[in-house]
Amino acid sequence: MTKAIQNVIDTTAFINGPDVKAFGTELEQHLGIPHVIPCANGTDALQIAMMALNLKPGDEVITANFTYVATAEVIALLGLKPVLVDVDPNTFCIDPVAIEKAITPNTKAIVPVHLFGQCADMEPIMEIANRHNLFVIEDTAQAIGANYTYANGKKMPAGGIGHVGTTSFFPSKNLGCYGDGGAIFTANEDLAKRIRMICNHGQSVQYVHDDIGVNSRLDSIQAAILRVKLKKLDAYSSARVAAANAYDAAFANHPKLVIPKRAANSTHVFHQYTLQLKDADRTALREFLATKEIPSMVYYPIPLHMQKAYTDPRYKEGDFPITEQLCKTVFSLPIHTEMEAEMQQYIINTVLEFLN
Ligand SMILES: *Cc1c(COP(=O)(O)O)cnc(C)c1O
Repeated sequence: MTKAIQNVIDTTAFINGPDVKAFGTELEQHLGIPHVIPCANGTDALQIAMMALNLKPGDEVITANFTYVATAEVIALLGLKPVLVDVDPNTFCIDPVAIEKAITPNTKAIVPVHLFGQCADMEPIMEIANRHNLFVIEDTAQAIGANYTYANGKKMPAGGIGHVGTTSFFPSKNLGCYGDGGAIFTANEDLAKRIRMICNHGQSVQYVHDDIGVNSRLDSIQAAILRVKLKKLDAYSSARVAAANAYDAAFANHPKLVIPKRAANSTHVFHQYTLQLKDADRTALREFLATKEIPSMVYYPIPLHMQKAYTDPRYKEGDFPITEQLCKTVFSLPIHTEMEAEMQQYIINTVLEFLN
């Protein structure tokens, strides 16, 4: 790794160096997605995707209420109208039935989020999108490397199913760099060209600007790091799944815990291992874990419609029962690629000690 970083320093190709192009190509090959366009972070990736699809102020974009704020943020930032819908109680991903109900004549796009590492139910989502002539932008920040299987057996990579996919290489993501990074995926060559142009100030030829763009680049040093780590992505995913399996085995039959359900049609790369707590005090559990030096997190404690920045007269408390319930009950335990059995057993024992 230090060699890859030193090489960028030695060649001083800090911006748009050969590693950026090579990483894009290697990720295309790894995922089997025709075009990968690196950019500065996962939030930019979402914004650029929406700009490239020519979404206009006032257009409605449907997304999951139970997600990281970035998804809804860029919709609002572009003057589009975020339309929030509830999620599936088992997979925590956007509910296709709720999507269909939220469609109006102004709806232009759907942004499913592959939350915690498994794919939203993309086959019905694509069917709805095709029927209503809508774009689909997959937020794949948490699920790079996951696969979705259609009813006919066809397998597709997360981020390669919709018109555009986006991801993040934030250090804690499954493929993380040593700073910020992101990428945009598409199978459409014209769209790929447009996305590259928007990432680079809307420039078609040097100093010729066809469109209003942004400045969003993946640093060469980050690309060099990602090239090294991409080779291990499958091993990283397997290590996460092994850790999840061990948690599942320990917690499956506990009356106060609901283990994360695995969708029948998606692999799970366990960006997070997220349980639901029943009839127990979540704050007290997390405090107890903290005293034993075990970090835990709540993704996400407040639904988007209850956030000050996203309050909207259309929505009130109680409108999204599943999201609201999950925000009150979920907690995530440590999961990463270097989880030693002994360390994990200590975490398991400590959780059980509190609950029993
Ligand atoms: C991390 C994340 C993002 C944003 O990625 P950044 O690189 O931090 O901008 C967007 N959506 C989801 C679901 C995420 O988890």
